Amino acid sequence: MTPEQFETWLYPDETGLYCAPGAFHIDPHRATETAIVTHGHADHARPSHKHVYASPETLAIMNLRLVQQAGQHHHAMVSGEVVTMGDVDVWLAPAGHVLGSMQVVIEWQGQRAVVSGDYKRRPDPTCASFEVVPCDLFVTEATFGLPVFRHEPDDREIARLLTSVAEQPERAHLIGAYGLGKCQRLIALIRAAGHDAPIWLHGATEKMCAFYQEQGIELGELLPVAGAEKKDMAGSIVMAPPSALQDRWSRRLPDAVTCFASGWMRVRGRARQRGVELPLIISDHADWPELIQTIKETGAREVWVTHGREDALCHQITKMGKKARALALVGREDEDDSEDVAP
Ligand SMILES: [Zn+2]
Ligand SMILES: [Zn+2]
Repeated sequence: MTPEQFETWLYPDETGLYCAPGAFHIDPHRATETAIVTHGHADHARPSHKHVYASPETLAIMNLRLVQQAGQHHHAMVSGEVVTMGDVDVWLAPAGHVLGSMQVVIEWQGQRAVVSGDYKRRPDPTCASFEVVPCDLFVTEATFGLPVFRHEPDDREIARLLTSVAEQPERAHLIGAYGLGKCQRLIALIRAAGHDAPIWLHGATEKMCAFYQEQGIELGELLPVAGAEKKDMAGSIVMAPPSALQDRWSRRLPDAVTCFASGWMRVRGRARQRGVELPLIISDHADWPELIQTIKETGAREVWVTHGREDALCHQITKMGKKARALALVGREDEDDSEDVAP
């Protein structure tokens, strides 16, 4: 192992990204001895590890979603607290993606590697903001790693939604958004825009919203769709997992306007394909300018790209005078377009 040659001590094996001098995996896609988990989304927080190191919020989310299979021993790491694992020092720094999401900072023999997990740069009222950690190696996600992906300002998208709600008081606006993070962030943004009427919840989103509220995040008045009458929901906003948009379930709403909040809504064909009437370009992943900005700010001399469109971003990184490498990790899903409906 040579500290300056990162691939000699930090590399993907059949379980996931492995740090050899620390003897742990980061977000392993199958059960392992020791896992550091960046956040609670299903493709990062897998069941049945022996030791799980993560932020207290992520551990709580894993308990909520995986119950008996949340892992044998949980080790809470508060942001910034240094833990020695094997020969390396490890600490977590906020990733700004969803509640409890963290980047993993690894220091070994004078070299510092940062594994971002999923991240975004714009402010999110439901989680701590991304923190730039200067490093030698930066491992970045690239869900939206193409120059075409530029997310709109959140407040503009929310204003479009609220205008549509005001203009169609006889209809309900049904918003498809994944259940951990996106759903709660949208509610918080809608509240920040001054909409204080009750917001209705599909059953699959209730538990996680309650958890966010327990964590002190204000979501205003939330009511279950189950048991409600059609007329009660006229002129209101309803949150549901994306799968509910085309589901029979939506027939219980008054003439639903289907909305879908995702970075993919930048691509018109995707919205059409899903039958989305009101696409909202809101994502919990960095868009192209945010990816470039972040890579620059870390000052890393080497950047590994994972979790999406690697080619374009690797090319851009090389143009920036840095060493780039596409890191193919198995088991990653495109969660901005996936269901992620576990409670
Ligand atoms: Zn995620
Ligand atoms: Zn992810």
